[in-house]
Amino acid sequence: KPMEGRISDIGPHKYDDYFPPMIKKNFGKWLYHEILEPGVLMHVAESGDKVYTVRVGGARTMSITHIRELCDIADKYCGGYLRWTTRNNIEFMVDDEATMKALRDDLNSRKFPGGSFKFPVGGTGACVCNMIHTQGWVHCHTPATDASGPVKCVMDALFDEFDHMRMPAPVRVSLACCINMCGAVHCSDIGLVGIHRKPPMIDHEWADQLCEIPLAVAACPTAAVRPTKVEHNGEKVNSIAIKEDRCMYCGNCYTMCPALPIADSEGDGIAIMVGGKVSNRISMPKFSKVVVGYIPNEPPRWPSLTKTVKHIVEVYAANAEKYERLGEWAERIGWESFFKLTGLEFTHHLIDDFRDSAYYTWRQSTQFKF
Ligand code: SF4
Ligand code: SF4
Repeated sequence: KPMEGRISDIGPHKYDDYFPPMIKKNFGKWLYHEILEPGVLMHVAESGDKVYTVRVGGARTMSITHIRELCDIADKYCGGYLRWTTRNNIEFMVDDEATMKALRDDLNSRKFPGGSFKFPVGGTGACVCNMIHTQGWVHCHTPATDASGPVKCVMDALFDEFDHMRMPAPVRVSLACCINMCGAVHCSDIGLVGIHRKPPMIDHEWADQLCEIPLAVAACPTAAVRPTKVEHNGEKVNSIAIKEDRCMYCGNCYTMCPALPIADSEGDGIAIMVGGKVSNRISMPKFSKVVVGYIPNEPPRWPSLTKTVKHIVEVYAANAEKYERLGEWAERIGWESFFKLTGLEFTHHLIDDFRDSAYYTWRQSTQFKF
């Protein structure tokens, strides 16, 4: 369909082409919203119109049959409209209460053959919402951990908190599979970050053939990469040298040069950060802080990671005051008490000196190693 005022036909249609009629009619004129029950929101517009939203948990990787079923439900109740949230939840919107109740009951009644919910209703308010996460081993080139695997295991362990609102405040958990963090982990209540702990390996046979060596040199933020000549199969070839004590294992050089793979089954793993948020409610937005420096990758069920995250959530839930986000609670009681209550070990890897001048601190330098 031609798009008025658009200078290109590349990319998705303008977002408001997809609005349900009721949303289009009241765009920019919403007065307030309430959470009626876990997973059900009601937005009220200046016109008096009401929109009821039923939110269900979704998986990041979905089969075609699963998506078709979602579309069939949207056709049946919502005029064919549905939306995905950034946390991989799916939202159905209707404009009367009776339809909302029928839709909610229908969604809750659909189960997988083993009896688990296909479309669990929840993810609102003071709950553990679905996890936002990145691509993982299959889809990206620099991951230090998987995404879908650990996310599935952690959410399985926290699922009872998805469809209740009995946490002190919202708990937002995120996972980024490397420190590039394309998953907003740096400002989540609990952030899981894949970390490498070894420098890239150098494939001298392919470095000159697969890579623009100057690009790999320029990609390194710590100037650890330099061009060199090495002996390979009896000849001198152009290649790369890495000054290992400067390397902070970020993987940027591998992004530029496939002859510098960094994934390593022993070196790679996950760090846990806590206490971040983007909300302005009660206190300013905060960055998360590292509280566990390293947990090994343990596919397929990541037991150590899952147990540690569940434990942090349980200690927070038992000790924080109502409305207190995890970081606000830790700051009120003091981080020392946070480590005492959770039983997590405090090591020098966790020293937070980020506020010191202009990044030139011990933790922000290449002297800092996991
Ligand atoms: Fe790729 Fe890193 Fe993003 Fe994971 S976090 S998808 S490895 S850039
Ligand atoms: Fe430089 Fe990062 Fe590559 Fe290490 S991993 S050599 S710090 S670009």
